[in-house]
Amino acid sequence: MNDAAAKRYDVAVIGAGMAGMAAALFAAERGLSCVQIGSGGGILFASGLLDLLAVHPVAEHRLWPSPFDALAALAREQPGHPLARVDAASVRTAFQTFVAALTSAGMPYAPLGERNSHVITSIGTVKTSFGVPLTMVAGVEALERRLPCLLVDFRGLREFSARQIVETLAGDWPALRHQHIDFPGFESVPELYAAHLARALENRQTGERTIALIKPMLGEARAVGLPALLGLSRSSEVHAAFELGLGVPVFEIPTMPTSVPGLRLLGALEAAVAARGVTRRQLCSVRALTFEGSVATLELEGAPVAERVQASAVVLATGRFSGRGLTADRQSVRESLLDLPVQQPASREGWHERDFLDPAGHAINRAGLKTDDAWRPLDANGEPAWEKLFAIGSILAEQDWMREKCGSGLAIATAWAATDVIAGSDPQSRKSGKAGG
Ligand SMILES: Cc1cc2nc3c(=O)[nH]c(=O)nc-3n(C[C@H](O)[C@H](O)[C@H](O)COP(=O)(O)OP(=O)(O)OC[C@H]3O[C@@H](n4cnc5c(N)ncnc54)[C@H](O)[C@@H]3O)c2cc1C
Repeated sequence: MNDAAAKRYDVAVIGAGMAGMAAALFAAERGLSCVQIGSGGGILFASGLLDLLAVHPVAEHRLWPSPFDALAALAREQPGHPLARVDAASVRTAFQTFVAALTSAGMPYAPLGERNSHVITSIGTVKTSFGVPLTMVAGVEALERRLPCLLVDFRGLREFSARQIVETLAGDWPALRHQHIDFPGFESVPELYAAHLARALENRQTGERTIALIKPMLGEARAVGLPALLGLSRSSEVHAAFELGLGVPVFEIPTMPTSVPGLRLLGALEAAVAARGVTRRQLCSVRALTFEGSVATLELEGAPVAERVQASAVVLATGRFSGRGLTADRQSVRESLLDLPVQQPASREGWHERDFLDPAGHAINRAGLKTDDAWRPLDANGEPAWEKLFAIGSILAEQDWMREKCGSGLAIATAWAATDVIAGSDPQSRKSGKAGG
């Protein structure tokens, strides 16, 4: 295929994890034509909760009630952290835009305030997060006020035990009870999976039979918690039917990965970018990326026929080791696509601390790409590798998103900041006045 046949876009986003999806969404909202290449990334494993920043500094495991106070502390104490380089107003707008898109794609979130929320997990720990799906939000209040509350699980669903949650939390929450029921229609199935049950609950009769089983168990309960399986693509509808049928607030508790909220999140993001006209090459990956003058050419593999696309700007959102954006051999960590320099310890001995559970984490988890102020990854001379190549999300250096509980925040904020730069430098989008922020 020659270049004349290659379709040209304003932006090509490489990667379809949280960062790639956010970049495609924001680019399209700003009026830029966009092609996105790659499959689901870590989204499938996500809980549906959108972390912004909960822990800083990692070594002290200090938890912050307000993610914006945490961001301010991060900016003072660790200015090289990618999240510290996005101003708070942009972070707010980015989250609002992202959540509004999810809500209109059928995965509604509670209004975003200034504070983190506390959410019960499937093992009875409490997770601090920022964006909470509406189906989970009643659990935040139930936990905060230690309301009389009934948790229900299903015989055969191994990934979720209401009893374990109650045993873990009961010392501090005496009014928490649990019950175990058969899932209607699946009574003789020994092993159940959340995604199957979620789909089954989209059948109205199955929902009504489940509600009828739970209702006599309510007693004093002022809220009911269930594993996160209240519908797959119609969760709002199923959740509302449970609240109406039971007559008390109902909340979902995220289950272990791969979780139903992860599936919903991926579905909603796919719908949101499709609705905004993003061209997607889901089953492909970028095999090679070259730059000539002001045009980047991407060679795709994995499609039925070899394809080449061109773009004026490229966003690298290829993730870390699990996403395949970074690879490691015995000596060093490498960036997989362009062999860009990776900021990392001088030798392998520096990758890990002696203690696996070292509270400060490990240097390898902070390895990644260095960028300039415009989110352009640097070459070996410390210069932008290409004028219109941008790097976002977990491939960036100087962050440890798992320990800092900032996975979605890092993805969404850096996607916003990079697309802002791209839109600002694109005369077409400036003219259309679509650049938000
Ligand atoms: C177990 C688990 C739990 C999580 N829980 C939460 C949570 O509770 N709250 C929260 O906020 N976030 C959570 N997350 C999600 C997390 O926020 C994001 O996964 C993280 O921010 C990384 O996103 P990313 O887009 O940078 O990378 P990834 O998700 O790794 O995505 C990288 C993408 O790049 C693609 N790619 C790589 N190379 C190429 C190539 N050459 N061509 C095309 N595509 C390519 C990959 O296929 C993938 O689509 C969780 C993730 C995991 C794994």
